[in-house]
Amino acid sequence: MGILYIIATPIGNLSDITARALEILKEVDLVVCEDTRQTIKLLNHYQIKKPLVSYFQHSKLSKIEYIAEQLRRGKNAALVTDAGTPGISDPGGMLVNKLTGEQANKEKIRIVPIPGPCAAVAALSVSGFPTDKFLFMGFPPHKKGREKYFKEIAAARRTIVFYESTHRILKALEQLAALIPQRQIVVAREITKMFETIYRGTAKQILEILNSDKNNLKGEFVVVVNKI
Ligand code: SAM
Repeated sequence: MGILYIIATPIGNLSDITARALEILKEVDLVVCEDTRQTIKLLNHYQIKKPLVSYFQHSKLSKIEYIAEQLRRGKNAALVTDAGTPGISDPGGMLVNKLTGEQANKEKIRIVPIPGPCAAVAALSVSGFPTDKFLFMGFPPHKKGREKYFKEIAAARRTIVFYESTHRILKALEQLAALIPQRQIVVAREITKMFETIYRGTAKQILEILNSDKNNLKGEFVVVVNKI
């Protein structure tokens, strides 16, 4: 039985990958990824050539079966996603879940983590908020359940971290401003990339900065909310 390595990859800066991750990417028989175009950029940068198998949330069972079959044949595979640690708010977790299901467990597929970047952890690390305990809330729902999600944040008695897209970052901060106007917040934008910016203040203060220049709204965002 082969090994499936779960490899964390950069969240922007291509140098943010561990030596061990590169060694394993060079050794494995195939790389399971999300968007092949994204993974090819990383592999090309390190001059690694590997067969790629794309996997996403709605992949057919036959795709999972194909990957399981490769492992059964003794091939080693690496699972990467578009950015960061596979399984953290991306389709990586689904694959591991399917491969470790009841049937798969009997086959004892070995799954090995190769740790590295994660946007949520990077944002927490610069937040200055207590991180001995924190609550990771993934992405807020777009519509149904969104209000409840933010009420849960407002009521939580610990540091909270969540992901938000460029399309809804203003809406998220407006919701936080209405529910917890005094609470300190950190918004980490484009971590490790050219326009990396860390905004600190209340939701209202950060909204003012983001609204002052439409370039501030571009890119990827992590929001960290200080505990009560
Ligand atoms: N698995 C990834 C990880 O370990 O962080 C997260 C994948 S999730 C589909 C993508 C979200 O992570 C983005 O919408 C954004 O909220 C956050 N994110 C990823 N890269 C980021 C970056 N460089 N700067 C800020 N946020 C980022």
